[in-house]
Amino acid sequence: MRITVQKFGGTSVATEYKREAAVKRVREAREGGCAPVVVVSAMGRAGEPYATDTLKSLVEDIFPRVPLRELDLVMSCGEIISAAVMAATLHRAGIAARSFTGLQAGLVTDGCYGQAQVVSCDPLLLRQCLREGEVAVVAGFQGATPGGEINTLGRGGSDTTAVILGAALGAEQVEIYTDVNGISTADPRLLEEARVIPRLTYSEVCQLAHEGAKVIHPAAVEVAMKHNLNLVVRSLTEKGQGTLINTYGALAGAGYAAQPYNVVTGIAHAADVAQILIEFKQPDPDREMLIFECLARAGISIDLISVFPTLKIFTIKEEMLPRAEAALKEQGIDCRVEKGCAKVSVVGMGMRGIPGVMARVVRALNEQGITILQTADSNISISLLIPQDDLVKAIKTLHDHFNLGAAASPAAAPAFSAAAT
Ligand code: ADP
Ligand code: MG
Repeated sequence: MRITVQKFGGTSVATEYKREAAVKRVREAREGGCAPVVVVSAMGRAGEPYATDTLKSLVEDIFPRVPLRELDLVMSCGEIISAAVMAATLHRAGIAARSFTGLQAGLVTDGCYGQAQVVSCDPLLLRQCLREGEVAVVAGFQGATPGGEINTLGRGGSDTTAVILGAALGAEQVEIYTDVNGISTADPRLLEEARVIPRLTYSEVCQLAHEGAKVIHPAAVEVAMKHNLNLVVRSLTEKGQGTLINTYGALAGAGYAAQPYNVVTGIAHAADVAQILIEFKQPDPDREMLIFECLARAGISIDLISVFPTLKIFTIKEEMLPRAEAALKEQGIDCRVEKGCAKVSVVGMGMRGIPGVMARVVRALNEQGITILQTADSNISISLLIPQDDLVKAIKTLHDHFNLGAAASPAAAPAFSAAAT
């Protein structure tokens, strides 16, 4: 049996009109000879009745530091409601469908509330459903521990659900339907001239996602890479091929416009970041360990970590600040906090081993008077912490500097043929 997984994000299931468009995609897949497995997110965005943020505030408004376990239980409901609504919509269209929770779909998680990892997946009930010719509709973003504790997978976790099910079921591909036309050179909501990139490698997308491009969840890309599963990101309602993600990225072509490498492929950003600075009078390895251990115990993930003998700097999501400050205070550790920061990152396979990219980035931002608070890099990315007020200006500056708005031309492809051989 040929299986395709179709994931519909929050805005793609938010209205009657969008759900009908999703039904059309399901029908197309069936007409193409595939058995679809549908994965859905919670309906709509903050403020709408069944959106994840609305459900979260339902309990956080009662007690802001409510245990993450309770948050997970309420947050998992949004996707369950969505799955049942989507199954009903399919039935109305004459397509037999069954909705499932993450637990029923066989996703076993590690118990880390709020950002659980899936440790195994055996979708027995889904296989049975597909064998009987019905569409399986799965609540994304969730799973359960072997002991039955409900866990959510972190923001954007429905993407991960889709890819994990795709791998477990041996799907031909996983299609991520969303509210933009594919993965662009920057967030098209912040930068109008951002351009859809037809093909990308898993590594590039993974890096973009890790650096905050929320168009896809990084864990989803990692799982797809491990199983060599084709991933497609495209618009629910617009025509167009979107972005195909696989091992080859721009190097292989059938049906997709080949595009040569540039030094930078895309720009990602993460907003609402707080920088935490902790100063010691003298080096103290025990206290140093305490910092990172107490934050880990509180379930707070940290980023842009710079450790010097008497200074420790890192960033967290601003929404985690009350928890982080409480955890540090409990250990008697004082910290200084810079709120209102954002991280902007340039990413590209083409920057591997190419000298001078950092110099170009720093000069471009300096020329615009943008303060760089901290930096970090990997072999295919450079990240910079900046004041959030300068975020759009920084993205635009870097986008212009690396000429990302123009369709890449063969002339702009340094060492491309060498990399391809
Ligand atoms: P969904 O609810 O479908 O999962 P998300 O909001 O999680 O949708 O992801 C889609 C959003 O990702 C877009 O609306 C866009 O603002 C944002 N985004 C961020 N970076 C990019 C990028 N590089 N390309 C496309 N979209 C991006
Ligand atoms: Mg998403």
